Amino acid sequence: MENKDKNCISRRDFLKTLGIAGAATAGLTACGGKEETAGTAANGETSAADMTMRTSPTTGDKVSILGFGMMRLPSPKDRGDGEKRSVVDQEVVNELVDYAMAHGVNYYDTSPAYCQGESERATGIALSRYPRDKYFVATKLSNFGDFSREASMAMYRKSFEELQVDYIDYYLLHSVGGGGMENLHARYLDNGMLDFLLKEREAGRIRNLGFSYHGDIKVFDYLLSKHDVYHWDFVQIQMNYLDWRYAKQINPSNTNAEYLYAELDKRGIPAIIMEPLLGGRLSNVPDNIVATLKEREPELSVASWAFRFAGTYPRVLTVLSGMTRMEHLQDNLRTYSPLKPLDEDELAFLQRVATMMMQFDTIPCNDCKYCMPCPYGIDIPAILLHYNKCLNEGNIVVDNQDPTYRRARRIYLIGYDRSVPKLRQANHCVGCGQCNPHCPQGIDIPKELQRIDRYVESLKREKV
Ligand code: SF4
Ligand code: SF4
Repeated sequence: MENKDKNCISRRDFLKTLGIAGAATAGLTACGGKEETAGTAANGETSAADMTMRTSPTTGDKVSILGFGMMRLPSPKDRGDGEKRSVVDQEVVNELVDYAMAHGVNYYDTSPAYCQGESERATGIALSRYPRDKYFVATKLSNFGDFSREASMAMYRKSFEELQVDYIDYYLLHSVGGGGMENLHARYLDNGMLDFLLKEREAGRIRNLGFSYHGDIKVFDYLLSKHDVYHWDFVQIQMNYLDWRYAKQINPSNTNAEYLYAELDKRGIPAIIMEPLLGGRLSNVPDNIVATLKEREPELSVASWAFRFAGTYPRVLTVLSGMTRMEHLQDNLRTYSPLKPLDEDELAFLQRVATMMMQFDTIPCNDCKYCMPCPYGIDIPAILLHYNKCLNEGNIVVDNQDPTYRRARRIYLIGYDRSVPKLRQANHCVGCGQCNPHCPQGIDIPKELQRIDRYVESLKREKV
């Protein structure tokens, strides 16, 4: 990791900073109200006192607007240690968490499904080094494979062990909407799990109960229509400046974030935001979009626009970012310490940027890896993301007379072999379709893989 020594602070320094943060953030306003910070970030350097905080209206939790998504944790391979067998590099996770805590981030979001089942344990190890009242931990009932009450209960209980806690601050029905009402019934209603979780909230073992949503809007609307029964403490939605008005156009089975947010707002339910960068698409944008954003604010990173967009809406409690590297964390800290909300003119500007981006036909993969593992070894997200990257960078060519053809061809093929081992490439997909029901973005994965494979073959034969 770059700047490791410079960026890591000692535990003593960290605890000192926490003490300052605790005093500085006292008395902040409610989520939906005006947020306050106790200081101003100096050039590039931020402190915990600068972090914008929001307040949960039900529990009064003072939550940092930047939440740490523990979905894309660093692996030993990231620092060239491919021999290590574990999926997660605990040492680097601890360093990231230490830095985040020292700079005012107090919300950590994990799931039994993340990082091939290792995220909860890694999160528990990192956070258990801190006093329990200094962080909020969120996890989920990710009962995608086995809907039975026994398996769901076992998953719930195991989360407490992995996280080393006796209460969970934020607990979610994970990814409702996929599979429609039938799936909601099977996973949470018919097996009595939702009733059980409501009782757990009464008993104090769950402090805030909510759900994360992707997919069939009927499920979202149904659960909100029952708000007077379930009293949702929060709802997690996918929201970013592209999905605000274009989610449905990107994928007809999705719903525009503008609608989702408005439905929560009118009921006074805090929104937790996932995919503020749309799986990296809003940080890895085409060159013309980079130029447009830089022309307006040369000093700001491309990603910071997306984070400011998500944080601007007052009903947002926290914005989750899956930060694998220290520079991602530092950039986000600069954006949110404190948050400078977008004004009307900037919001309109971002909507124009979104319209420009819609001219590029990328595949809406956000690298969540729910479709993995493929029984035939295909690395689905790596294939789709490489395609998107090349498309965004103008390296997809439809005509071999195109003056950029040779360069684009070389970039695609060399990059493909580097990003995806040969045996895991699209040509080995047998089209069994087992991955499709797991994709919350509703992507027809075998169809897209076939399309990409046809493109790769045509590049190889130089017959685009
Ligand atoms: S359709 Fe292809 S990618 Fe999906 S599970 Fe089957 S072989 Fe794997
Ligand atoms: S294809 Fe779908 S399930 Fe797989 S990583 Fe992409 S968004 Fe996630």
